[in-house]
Amino acid sequence: MKTIVFANQKGGVGKTTSAVNIAAALGIAGKRTLLVDFDPQGNATSGVGVRKPQVTSYDIVIGRRPASDAVIKTDFKNLYVIPASMPLAAADFELADLENREARLKNALDAISKSYDYAIIDCPPSLGLLTVNALAAGDGVVIPMQCEYYSLEGLSQIMTTVKQVKKLYNPSLTLTGILITMYNGRLNLSVSVLDEIKKYYADKLFKTPIQRNVRISEAPSYGMPIQYYDKYSRGGLQYSDVAAELMERI
Ligand code: ADP
Ligand code: MG
Repeated sequence: MKTIVFANQKGGVGKTTSAVNIAAALGIAGKRTLLVDFDPQGNATSGVGVRKPQVTSYDIVIGRRPASDAVIKTDFKNLYVIPASMPLAAADFELADLENREARLKNALDAISKSYDYAIIDCPPSLGLLTVNALAAGDGVVIPMQCEYYSLEGLSQIMTTVKQVKKLYNPSLTLTGILITMYNGRLNLSVSVLDEIKKYYADKLFKTPIQRNVRISEAPSYGMPIQYYDKYSRGGLQYSDVAAELMERI
């Protein structure tokens, strides 16, 4: 199993949207894919049509249930989810007192890694212990970001955290790619921020930016990834392209 972590401490940058839609695309491509919701908001969980989960990612990081107990098969091809719910918010605090506090998620997922080709972890919007656990479990990191002025500062913060986790807990962690989300090529600012990112991270940038597309924002309210809600929408096609590129990169 290859584990890819979708992380960015900023909220609303498209982490969950990208994690859900890329996980669905990997499933459609024939890969057994496990989406791990690691944000107490539970948006990835509801985004694949799962409501009121009983056993969640909280139970597995705290260590009171094995990961296999938390896995739910979704209605979508080759797509499984470990759901999240609000109690996970307390884990950030509770984990602080536990042994191996940054390796809890990794240890839990190791037990089921033979059953899946990919795990996709959706992180909360912070760089706390939950995100550190996710990074410690990862083979690769994808950083979704918008082309805004402050995005560049945010990018250097997350890169610092990735480097620290790599050094302290997970030497095999690599930056898989930076994914531009909600792109609007008609905005001069977006174009110039993108140029700036290219200067520093050219080889890390996914070739396809995800454009702003209303169909993408509608899909979660139906509990569906974009590929099932509107397969031929621009967003659906772009996320499938990114998933194909991800498989080449990892
Ligand atoms: P995060 O997980 O980083 O907080 P989300 O994935 O929840 O961000 O996205 C934030 C909001 O933006 C959501 O309402 C989502 O539906 C919307 N959104 C994400 N990507 C797009 C896009 N390409 N086009 C239009 N809306 C988008
Ligand atoms: Mg989210």
